[in-house]
Amino acid sequence: MNNENNQNGSNQNKDSNNKTNKNGMIAIIIATLFVFIFVCWIREQVERTTKQEITYDAFLDMLNENKVESVEFSGNKIMIKPKVSETEKPLYVITYYTGYINDDSLVEKLNKADVKYQSVVEDSGSGILEFFMWNVFPFALIFGSMWFLFRPMFKGGGMMGVGKSNAKVYVEKETGVTFRDVAGQEEAKDSLTEVVDFLHNPGKYAKIGAKLPKGALLVGPPGTGKTLLAKALAGEAKVPFFSLSGSDFVELYVGVGASRVRDLFKQAQQKAPCIIFIDEVDAIGKSRDGHHGGNDEREQTLNQLLSEMDGFDTSKGLVVLAATNRPEVLDKALLRPGRFDRRVIVDKPDLKGRVDILKVHAKDVMMDDSVDLEEIALATSGAVGSDLANMINEAAIMAVKDNRKFVRQSDLFEAVEVVIAGKEKKDRILGKDEKKIVAYHEVGHALVTALQKGSEPVQKITIVPRTMGALGYVMQVPEEEKYLMSKDEMLIRITTSLGGRAAEKIIFDSITTGASNDIEQATKIARAMVTQYGMSDAFGMIGLESVENRYLDGRAVMNCSDETATAVDQEVMKILKECYNKAEKLLEGNKDVLDKIAEYLIREETITGKEFMRIYREIKGIPEEEKENTVDESEKKISQEETKVDDADAK
Ligand code: ADP
Ligand code: ZN
Repeated sequence: MNNENNQNGSNQNKDSNNKTNKNGMIAIIIATLFVFIFVCWIREQVERTTKQEITYDAFLDMLNENKVESVEFSGNKIMIKPKVSETEKPLYVITYYTGYINDDSLVEKLNKADVKYQSVVEDSGSGILEFFMWNVFPFALIFGSMWFLFRPMFKGGGMMGVGKSNAKVYVEKETGVTFRDVAGQEEAKDSLTEVVDFLHNPGKYAKIGAKLPKGALLVGPPGTGKTLLAKALAGEAKVPFFSLSGSDFVELYVGVGASRVRDLFKQAQQKAPCIIFIDEVDAIGKSRDGHHGGNDEREQTLNQLLSEMDGFDTSKGLVVLAATNRPEVLDKALLRPGRFDRRVIVDKPDLKGRVDILKVHAKDVMMDDSVDLEEIALATSGAVGSDLANMINEAAIMAVKDNRKFVRQSDLFEAVEVVIAGKEKKDRILGKDEKKIVAYHEVGHALVTALQKGSEPVQKITIVPRTMGALGYVMQVPEEEKYLMSKDEMLIRITTSLGGRAAEKIIFDSITTGASNDIEQATKIARAMVTQYGMSDAFGMIGLESVENRYLDGRAVMNCSDETATAVDQEVMKILKECYNKAEKLLEGNKDVLDKIAEYLIREETITGKEFMRIYREIKGIPEEEKENTVDESEKKISQEETKVDDADAK
């Protein structure tokens, strides 16, 4: 959000704020007044105890008794400072004063008593200044600092800012984003176009008696462009865009969330037609029957949201959009007709979608002829819009660092790796032995891949450590985007994953922690085969797991008895064991290639898929013709399924 929006936001809130501001002002004024009176009283007390009026003859007596230290003639008083005896030294010195009397001999008497005397000149000019200095200024200071300290509390409304969404509501008069900026979400855009028309002309629909949706739920993984889509909708319809995140509603104080919701809707209704966008709606809309224990605050907020959604008048043209990546946890009441009854899926983009997204973001970036965005799209299966936007930007930054005016394809590929695996970690130098282990591990993966029919060609092998923990990895490439996977392909994947560990075992006869990530991956696939895809002989087609959080980590939850779970584990183990054995056998039969390529990799640190295949064929004596075909292929179709990184993790 930029500044402008914030400003709009705060303008918006001024009206509703005035009243609370006034209350705050009054409270501060009263407080300052109290301090003022108190200080005056103290002063009075001090004066009273330190200054005493005496009669003129008492003054003369004092003079005679030589008890006067000095005398000051001021305005209408004679101030008398008594002598203090060295031995007594009281806590404070009392000054006496007395009025003037027509006494011509006073000066003479003073001289005689050897008393210092002087007349104080009343400076009428600085009187006002002095008055300000000592009476007004300190209180102004107190007032000012109190105002400064407490204002935020009043500003928020109520006490301590409770109850207003002011600070966090963002309003954009014009988002400036249109559907053209959202690439690869055609279905989502389609289902929102009628909403645009509705916002343009709500009356048309109201007249006929048509009811339009009050709310739509945008569902999809993070970074797929849900916020962008909502903004684009507002941009297309040219209406203001109110946005707030679900987590903003959930506060420490009970009742804050609810009044924020109320406030948001109130503000929006004044500006209708407009769009309200609630990000992370699951933060408020979590199911109330909750096994997570009660949460009064959230419940109140949710109830308020429900009643606001029921209450507002659609004919004005107000549409509420909400985004979530956990639709399954939402309270059913939110999804009832008249609330968020429409669901717009904003899923991860497919190949074409990725190409389009890359194009949108490459629009303003200078690129040379070597750039082929399709190739990059193929290499980034599983990446979402924000990843792709990020990659283009990384590539541009790399070109700048390299003092070039144009981005090259190699920049883009490097950027893909940076986004997936992190930056090269130049300062982590592997020891000689470790480097050797990592090299064999990675070549193990690559070779097992190459030795299996139907696996994805290798694009690159590297043992340059990356910031995200990988000590090395193999980038792999499907020849085309796939939506289905066969059992064989899954087994090939598992075998490939276990190839790293197999190579370590064969060459060094010892194993390292580097395979932990591989094992995790392999286990995940094997388990899914058994429990979700009906691919095991032992169980056949039975669903033993269901996937929760489909749009987040896709974690599966077992729903079977404990005995079955044990049997599942056994079956998974069996699959893994078979695959591992296969990997080991493949590598044992090709130890010569393994050694050669590992040696090369230790020297060069990075090998392209082409080089890898050349060495492989050289040793195997594979004829020229076939070679050309394959090289061509692996050159052209570069991709990396599921952006997976086979690594030797440094955990
Ligand atoms: P979400 O709300 O789904 O988490 P965002 O809308 O915040 O994702 O997306 C973050 C950024 O990623 C956007 O600002 C945009 O630059 C980019 N992006 C995401 N999806 C797309 C898309 N489909 N087309 C173009 N850019 C996208
Ligand atoms: Zn590995």
